[in-house]
Amino acid sequence: MRKSHSLINTLESLDGNELRKISDIILNMLQNMDCEETGASTPEVCPKCNCSNLAKFGKDKHGKQRYRCNGCHSTFISTSFSVVSYSRFDLTIWKRYIELLLMGAPLAKCAEVCGISVKTAFHWRHKILYALQKDQNNRVLAGIVELDEMYVPISYKGNHSKSSHFVMPRKAYKRGSDNKAQIGSKACVMCAIERNGQTYGEVLGKGQPTTAMLSHAFNNRILTDSIVLSDKSSSIGYYFNNFTTIELIQLEAHTVVKGKYGPPEVRGAMHIQTVNNLHYRIRSFLRRYNGVATKYLNHYLALFIWVENHNTLEDNTPEKDVLNHITQANTHINRNSFALMPPIPQVA
Ligand SMILES: [Zn+2]
Repeated sequence: MRKSHSLINTLESLDGNELRKISDIILNMLQNMDCEETGASTPEVCPKCNCSNLAKFGKDKHGKQRYRCNGCHSTFISTSFSVVSYSRFDLTIWKRYIELLLMGAPLAKCAEVCGISVKTAFHWRHKILYALQKDQNNRVLAGIVELDEMYVPISYKGNHSKSSHFVMPRKAYKRGSDNKAQIGSKACVMCAIERNGQTYGEVLGKGQPTTAMLSHAFNNRILTDSIVLSDKSSSIGYYFNNFTTIELIQLEAHTVVKGKYGPPEVRGAMHIQTVNNLHYRIRSFLRRYNGVATKYLNHYLALFIWVENHNTLEDNTPEKDVLNHITQANTHINRNSFALMPPIPQVA
C-alpha cells in the first residue's frame, strides 16, 4: 500500500504528456494480463514455418502485440490461424461460450448469453469441436487397452437445405419404431479406452470395420508393449495379428448360461466392460443433443472425449484448456467448409 501511495505522489507531480505515456504502458500491461488469463500466450514458433526466431513487431489495430518471423518474414499475432483469428469478438466472450458448450447448453442459450446470433453460435460450436477433433488424431494409448465398436443410426440432418447435390439415399424414417436399420446401414464408431482412462473414439464409416478402416484407426495409436482386449470380432483379430505386433486377447461378448445369452466373458482382470461402459456413456451424452447429424458425430465425440480425458487430470480446468487449444495456430476452419463435409465420415 505504501508503494502505491508514493507512486501516486510521483504521478501527481507529472505533466499531461508524461501521464498519457504511463497510461498507455499500464493499459498494455493489463491487456497482456487478460490474454494470459484467457489462454492466448506469446507464440514460441512461427505458425507458417515453425521457426523459433521471432521478434516483436509493433501492434495491430486492436492494440494486440504483433510478431515477425525472422525466417519467412511473415507477421502475425498470438491468435493468427486459430479458431478465433477472424472473430471480432473478444476472447472473454469465447471463454464464456466454451463454459456454456461444456455445460451442454443449447445454441439459443449460448447465443443469448454471448450476444451472438444462433447461426454464429452454431458455427462457433463446430469450429471449436473441429479443433478438438484434430487434437485427437495424435492421441496414443498404452497399457491395457479395451476396444470395441458401436453402431449409431445414420442421420442425414444438416445436408438437405442449400445443397444442390445431396439426394436422400433412403426413405425417411417415420416416428416411432420404424428405424430398424441393420448394422450395415449404421455408422460404425470405433472406441478404445485405457484402463487409466485416456480415450479414443471416431466414426470409421458405414457398416462393419474393414482392415483399411482399422488401419486408419489404430496405426501408431497403441504402443507396441500394450495388451489389447476386444470381443471375438474377426476383422479386429485379423488386423492386430497380421499388421501389428501388439498382443491381442479376444473375449466372448456374451457367455451362454443355460442356452441363453449371459454377461460378457471375464478372465481375471481381462474383460471389455470398461469399453462397454464407455459406449453407454457416449449414447447418453448424444441423447442430450436430440439426434446428432452423422456428419457432425465426430465433433460431438471429440467434445465427449475431451471432457472425459480431463476428468482424469488433477488440474481440471477444461474451459481454460479448450480456449488455450483453440487459440493455437492451425486450428482454423472456414465456416463454408462445413457444407462440404460428407454426410457420413468415411476414413477409408
Ligand atoms: Zn516463419
